[in-house]
Amino acid sequence: MTELNYACMKCGACCHEIEYKKRIPLYPEEANFLIEIAKKRGIALKIIEDLVFPDILNKKILIVTYKILFEKKINGCPFYDKNYGCTVHDKKPLACKAYPLALKQVDAFNFQISVDPLCHYVIKHYDLIKSASFSTMKEIFKNEYPNAQNHLIKNKNLMLKIKQLEFEKKIKISRQISLKDFNKYLKEWEREEVTTN
Ligand code: SF4
Ligand code: SF4
Repeated sequence: MTELNYACMKCGACCHEIEYKKRIPLYPEEANFLIEIAKKRGIALKIIEDLVFPDILNKKILIVTYKILFEKKINGCPFYDKNYGCTVHDKKPLACKAYPLALKQVDAFNFQISVDPLCHYVIKHYDLIKSASFSTMKEIFKNEYPNAQNHLIKNKNLMLKIKQLEFEKKIKISRQISLKDFNKYLKEWEREEVTTN
């Protein structure tokens, strides 16, 4: 049993740029959903491509994720409200649902768990969190851990889908491409989103 039980302090630090360029990855379906909400609310939402692959067989840029471009004026996510916190809470992106956790698969059987040290809850309980075992971390972040797991699984499935398409020779991803060519393709080629649906 752990004496800690994560409860977000609703400080909003994770919804703003802190010491580094913050990046909130969005899957295409999440991006579409947020675009719709932003339209309804009259929010100026800027979303740009994030993880992309050049498919040299079909001359297409395959989009795996987008990201929210933080508004300069507030330096943060346009869905954050200082009185209410996240205004898309129930439907927020999986990356936000998993925050402050992230999972990485280190080999076939083992995972590595990382915690954002800039989350205010983590800062407050840093010593206890730093020395917590993997199973204690799962207890402390009992709601966030399954989301971090889903995030990892989803990313893995997307990469598997790309590999499968390559294996079936439906696409060809260039892995040795010059920056000059890549920028040219980014300008000229059509986009296609990769989803697991
Ligand atoms: S979607 Fe919500 S939780 Fe995620 S960055 Fe924006 S305001 Fe914060
Ligand atoms: S920084 Fe941590 S405590 Fe603050 S709003 Fe984000 S998740 Fe909650």
